[in-house]
Amino acid sequence: MSRNTLYYGSFVHSTSLTQLQYLVDALVYVSDGSIVWIETDVDGSQLQEVTTRHGLDLEGLSTTHDADFVQLDERDFICPGLIDTHTHAPQYPNLGLGQEYELLDWLQQLTFPREAKFTDLEYAQKVYDQVVKRNLNAGTTTCSYYASQHVSSAKVLADVVLERGQRALVGKCNMNRNCPDYYCEASPEASVEDTRALISYIRDLQPSKLPWKSANPSPLVQAIITPRFALSCTSDLMQGLGELMASEPDVHIQTHLSENRTEIQETLRSFPECKSYTEVYEKYGMLRNGTILAHCVWLTEKEMDVIKRTGAGISHCPTSNFNLMSGGARVGAMLDKGLNVGLGSDCSGGFALGVLPQLRNASMLSKMLAIQPEKPNEQANGHTGQFTDKPLPIPTLFYLATMGGAALCKMADTVGNFLPGKEFDALHVTPGTSPNFFLDVGEDRPAGQTREERRTKLKETFERFLFVSDDRDIAHVYVRGRKVGGAKQ
Ligand SMILES: [Zn+2]
Repeated sequence: MSRNTLYYGSFVHSTSLTQLQYLVDALVYVSDGSIVWIETDVDGSQLQEVTTRHGLDLEGLSTTHDADFVQLDERDFICPGLIDTHTHAPQYPNLGLGQEYELLDWLQQLTFPREAKFTDLEYAQKVYDQVVKRNLNAGTTTCSYYASQHVSSAKVLADVVLERGQRALVGKCNMNRNCPDYYCEASPEASVEDTRALISYIRDLQPSKLPWKSANPSPLVQAIITPRFALSCTSDLMQGLGELMASEPDVHIQTHLSENRTEIQETLRSFPECKSYTEVYEKYGMLRNGTILAHCVWLTEKEMDVIKRTGAGISHCPTSNFNLMSGGARVGAMLDKGLNVGLGSDCSGGFALGVLPQLRNASMLSKMLAIQPEKPNEQANGHTGQFTDKPLPIPTLFYLATMGGAALCKMADTVGNFLPGKEFDALHVTPGTSPNFFLDVGEDRPAGQTREERRTKLKETFERFLFVSDDRDIAHVYVRGRKVGGAKQ
């Protein structure tokens, strides 16, 4: 594969919370992993002229510019890679298990015994390799991972992610209470020290271990401080982690917040000095830009205001929230408040790998909230907004899966859509490969249509991709311009 690629065909990406752009006959030039320029509505007869204007010789692309020319089939398109803002790498072998439990029992019965196995680094290597590979093939180009509490296997996860070329945040769980003796950290000090060691390890990984040359010095894998949730951490540990966070202002933070009603009651009992669950994290300095708060099902208006004020954001995990009977997060109200929201698979609380199933369930949940006869948001606040208690529109759903996730991970300047200057994290979709993705008769040969007709067709194809495709329809997956997965890799 050459250092540079000129793509020609259909592209879809978000430009805002409510806008998708459907580009046909687009030329996109990617150099050293970054998007240099885009031209749209370029006829085949104009290719030479347009590329010359950008200083490229179309005939001599491979020799003069070390560039490939990739022309997409008429029904194919490229969209930005998907961003999974919350998942647990050691829990993938539990996918589909434990559906009879709610959160706290599920942790004790399934999660802790599984995660405890990750002292075995050979086991960790094998599981993590499959996790990262399958996530990439499902279109997840950026992923925020919880590892187990073991620093040694969290390092293995960081290695695997880097070797496979995924963009990721990797954190080891901090947990020293409300967990079994066989899976509990020895002391707050040891927990903080291991976290510090992981941060250093991940910083030193790059760029020496990058398996390919890149002109971009920004790290592909970054550390994230990961208190499992407030109930898992003593006040001493929360204090120690808060101090570590203060000394590392650029490091990301992730935790769970307000997932399950029993969990909320227990948390308030454990931190009686705090009036709300959100206040616990605020008290220890854990809320800031770059903090990912998973779930947030039962937030009060005041708690949303605190999150907004601190610049933290929310990972919406609807599949997990349905599966563990946690509840339905009020994403519409969050968006109306201007909160950063992304989507999370929360495997294995959620049983569906990848981001598209979360987008589908986010849509279903928003419709379910919209048809409730009682509108708690309206009643509580006396206002209705653009999104509150309404079905989430398709542009908004895709925004959550890409741009929203990028903002949550503090990567909005780097990925999420195809603006020039951003890195090329993208999916080449070949519609109609999987059995559910049903194209109409003749749709595979849409010759003789006007550009507007083709744009309308692209819009339909894209909607089907969001709702009925699977990874068989994703032929190629790119991170920083490099092919790292896909059904046809
Ligand atoms: Zn989780």
